[in-house]
Amino acid sequence: MATATLTIDLTALTNNWRALDAMTECETAAVVKADGYGLGADRVARSLANAGARTFFVAATEEAASLRQALGPGPVINIFSGHMSGDTDMISDLHLTPMLNSIDQMLRHVEALPDHPFGIQLDTGMNRLGMEPGEWAALRELAEPQNPTLVMSHLACADEPDHPMNAHQLESFLAMTEGMSTPKSLSATGGILLGKDYHFDMTRPGVGLYGGLPFEKAEPVAHVSIPVIQVRDVAQNESVGYGNTWIAERDSRIATVAAGYADGLIRAMGPNMNLFHGSTACPIVGRISMDMIGVDITHLGEDPRELDILTEDQTVDHLADAAGTIGYEILTSLGARYQRRYSS
Ligand SMILES: *Cc1c(COP(=O)(O)O)cnc(C)c1O
Repeated sequence: MATATLTIDLTALTNNWRALDAMTECETAAVVKADGYGLGADRVARSLANAGARTFFVAATEEAASLRQALGPGPVINIFSGHMSGDTDMISDLHLTPMLNSIDQMLRHVEALPDHPFGIQLDTGMNRLGMEPGEWAALRELAEPQNPTLVMSHLACADEPDHPMNAHQLESFLAMTEGMSTPKSLSATGGILLGKDYHFDMTRPGVGLYGGLPFEKAEPVAHVSIPVIQVRDVAQNESVGYGNTWIAERDSRIATVAAGYADGLIRAMGPNMNLFHGSTACPIVGRISMDMIGVDITHLGEDPRELDILTEDQTVDHLADAAGTIGYEILTSLGARYQRRYSS
């Protein structure tokens, strides 16, 4: 077998959900957009539902439709992108709840599905999705009597607790929802960590469930082991990989493992990362190829059958740092080629 194994620890996942839930007094939903941050929305969502999650969020109606098949009729499935043209039948038939983002979406929704549940997304400064204060002021009288299920907004800088944008958005959310009895939601993973003022009636963690920052106490959820395809001796002064970027400083033993940037192990992290044989670090040598990585195993004294790149100690955030990106991007880039295993 020459494909890597991505093991998804469902116990760590549900432990993370419970730990985030225990930090608030309110309902904790679960964000499973982008196929559960690359880890498999169906399995992830079913585990979280068994752990007690009753509300799920996805980005698009298509994601919501396949999630409904996985979860069955009970849980609430909310759609961040709202009610787009062409979505009406799926929203209606599968009991999905769009978070309406604009006057256009509001009119589309009430015309097409007058008695169907919806939520409202407000823009409190991020300028990405949601109604702006002026738009909302014009619409509130029409929307509120129809009992939206949720009024929500999203924080732009919640991973930086001291950023003044947090307080600014909180203030603007409070002003825009003043006097509303509708359940409110402002916080994703980062906002949960900002404290009680940010919790309202529901939180919407995503990345923290999957073991990523800013939830520092998260248990790692994704583990990756890569089979060794071939091992060779490389003499001092010989090179490894494209561009001859790595030259052996001593006689070396080099393993070629079967995963590369097409599996989300992005090229940019190359020279800064290790693979692991148990707890022994083995440095990456040369450029990461599409399907292969060279690894220095000279010091092991044996030829391993596989090497690990995502472990308890080397997490998605370590890979992200090495590549100059964020854990979210590493997770969602992991790609389709892995043999996926779910452990619980
Ligand atoms: C992605 C997303 C979340 C989850 O964010 P995390 O930082 O992954 O916890 C919550 N709300 C909205 C609107 C989002 O787009």
